[in-house]
Amino acid sequence: MATCPECDAEIEVDEFDVDKGDQLSCPECGSNLEVVGMSPLELDVAPDEDDDEDDDDDDEDLEDDDEDLDDEDDEELDE
Ligand SMILES: [Zn+2]
Repeated sequence: MATCPECDAEIEVDEFDVDKGDQLSCPECGSNLEVVGMSPLELDVAPDEDDDEDDDDDDEDLEDDDEDLDDEDDEELDE
């Protein structure tokens, strides 16, 4: 059993099911939490920075897709 640092809710986490660095979400307040200690089991709020990096990658992929679609349209017009 661990305690949410955000809302102090007791979260059922088996220390044998998680490793230090694992992330989970609090069922009470929905915060992303990270396991920072194993004995006793301790949770801390996980940083959101990773999500921002993923968003940047997605934007680049979408731009590439748009260029490909434009090329296909041009070919159809020529025919
Ligand atoms: Zn919470």
